[in-house]
Amino acid sequence: MNLQALVRPNIWHLSPYSCARQEYSAGNATVFLDANESPYNPPLNRYPDPLQHRLKQAVEQIKGIPEACTFLGNGSDEAIDLVLRVFCEPGVDNVVAISPTYGMYEVCAHINNVEYRPVSLGAGFSLQSERVLAATDDHTKVIFLCSPNNPTGNTLERVEVDKLLARFSGIVVMDEAYSDFSSVRPYRLDLQAYPNLIVLNTLSKAWASAAIRLGMAFASEEIIELMNRVKYPYNISLPTQKEALAILQKEVQVKEWVQLILSERTRLMAAFARLPLCREVFPTEANFFLARVSEATKIYHYLIACGIVVRDRSRVELCADSLRITIGTPLENDALLDALRKYEA
Ligand SMILES: *Cc1c(COP(=O)(O)O)cnc(C)c1O
Repeated sequence: MNLQALVRPNIWHLSPYSCARQEYSAGNATVFLDANESPYNPPLNRYPDPLQHRLKQAVEQIKGIPEACTFLGNGSDEAIDLVLRVFCEPGVDNVVAISPTYGMYEVCAHINNVEYRPVSLGAGFSLQSERVLAATDDHTKVIFLCSPNNPTGNTLERVEVDKLLARFSGIVVMDEAYSDFSSVRPYRLDLQAYPNLIVLNTLSKAWASAAIRLGMAFASEEIIELMNRVKYPYNISLPTQKEALAILQKEVQVKEWVQLILSERTRLMAAFARLPLCREVFPTEANFFLARVSEATKIYHYLIACGIVVRDRSRVELCADSLRITIGTPLENDALLDALRKYEA
């Protein structure tokens, strides 16, 4: 892979903004008169660490990826946007993605005026690497994959992903937002074998911290350096860095939550499959499942009237009459089942 050939020329030649907190490094200074901050109201008066050194060290303990190969963003969404801005020339380049999948890849592509080429999944929502490759051309810079995939819940087959990684000479983004719920080996652990791979993780799902907005991208040092160059200097606020450190300290608790969710997933899916309105429950490796029902949109509105919100995916490709249901607490899951048992077509 030739990285320079993939990166937009203006980004390759960019000299990044150098912020005060970056120019001054370590040492024993105690008087900070360099950044036009207020001397009052500590600690919020100070700009946060632009490269989140302490937080990345904590992430490394858990994810096993060195700091130099880690980018932290305002949600995974920032990482998705940066990938487009680093690699795709607006109006010229394109990206390819599986379909259906997470909606942000398409939205971010369109915001950046980058052509988005969706490629349908096959039977059982399987990745068809030949179809994906056939949709690429000389201007395809990025392929977006998601495993476990949202909204289908399944993981993508390793042999098919490997074919793409081997035969596509651009960037492959593998979104592993739900890998904490999956028994399948994540690609994050195999980053060193693939110089063109970017893996996305988030604190929004298993780590129970969607409110703080912290996403992660793991890739080669060279790719991470490009993303750091383009991001806003202080993209992760101090409160977010603090809360992220706090939740990463609670790994044992988080793993217990994941186990609870997984056992509830088994129970809820089995009970859901027995409902008269259920046509099919699709296998999942995530903290949600997709189910085909008798009449998705009617059932969706019925549930809203019961005070229960699920996701109606029935207008999404391959998801006709399908609802996506997140696993809640045992009480919440029972509320859903009770309401659906009372549903009259
Ligand atoms: C929920 C989700 C995310 C999380 O995005 P954040 O911006 O980190 O909250 C990322 N990717 C997928 C596929 C998701 O479903």
